[in-house]
Amino acid sequence: MNLFHQRLFKNFVPLHDFSTRSPRTTITAMGGGILANKVLLIDDCPAIHGLVKARLRGEPIEIHCAFDGDTGIQAANTLAPDLILLDVQMPQMDGFEVCRRLKNDSRTMEISVIFLTGATSAEEKVKGLELGAVDYITKPFDPAELRARVRASLRTKYLIDLLARKAMVEGLTGLFNRTYFDSRLLAEMAHSSRTGNPVSCVMLDLDRFKHINDTYGHPFGDEILRGIAQILNDNCRTEDTICRYGGEEFVILCPNTPATGTALLAERIRNAIESFRFTHNGFDIHVTCSFGVADLKQAAPPGVVELADQALYRAKHEGRNRVVVAEHPAAAQAA
Ligand SMILES: [Mg+2]
Repeated sequence: MNLFHQRLFKNFVPLHDFSTRSPRTTITAMGGGILANKVLLIDDCPAIHGLVKARLRGEPIEIHCAFDGDTGIQAANTLAPDLILLDVQMPQMDGFEVCRRLKNDSRTMEISVIFLTGATSAEEKVKGLELGAVDYITKPFDPAELRARVRASLRTKYLIDLLARKAMVEGLTGLFNRTYFDSRLLAEMAHSSRTGNPVSCVMLDLDRFKHINDTYGHPFGDEILRGIAQILNDNCRTEDTICRYGGEEFVILCPNTPATGTALLAERIRNAIESFRFTHNGFDIHVTCSFGVADLKQAAPPGVVELADQALYRAKHEGRNRVVVAEHPAAAQAA
């Protein structure tokens, strides 16, 4: 995994982000570690909990336990487990009802469910699968089969997550693509409208990029774009979203930060890019970028990206290789 992807994974915010929910105390955890997959076991029988833990010992799995449907659903919400092992026969709420509720809730609908069933009838197994379960294991379960089915389910989950992440990444630089940026922008603007905290953004554009491509060739142009992406990664905070917006244009979304703070970041990046030495056929090549910065607390048009883009246009017009902060729309109107 290279530096871009380390940052990408660190920075990735799933559309259903459970991480801010408060932890519950009605569930217990054992084993695992930071990189372990989280498996939630919902079963009313304590002996089954002991058995599953024993059978999965040694796997990179953190097992969380719930003993009834209600607690299990709450745990699924707070933990966002990678997999749920769900008993069919439980008092009060059976496993089918638990599964139905999990699949009807946008926060838990994508969590894989494997039913643990004592029944051997095809009808019951089909019912479970039609409710959205990915698999079932018949009790009393064979240890090797339990491990194999859990591993297969976690592997599928990993691949689905990987595909989802790849769909949000731009291929050349490893930065987020525009689709992901637009979804983060909407989320940050909504948060800003609620809290009154500013959202700011930086638009930056490589100066005279056509000239660079024409002079040194497109492969070297690509190398410069990757180098700039690295400089952006090195200088931004974890909570900032860095995106390749178009050809040689990048945008950085900075939550909870006014334009004054973001202008300092832009100036630091401008300086780092100007100072960086790219090498082509033994010669040092220096490049520069122009920057537009804006902030906004309301999602009303013009949006924060449009304001930053207007400021970037001014930076270009005023001679390039500089940071221009957008005039706030309210101030501009009053003037
Ligand atoms: Mg039971």
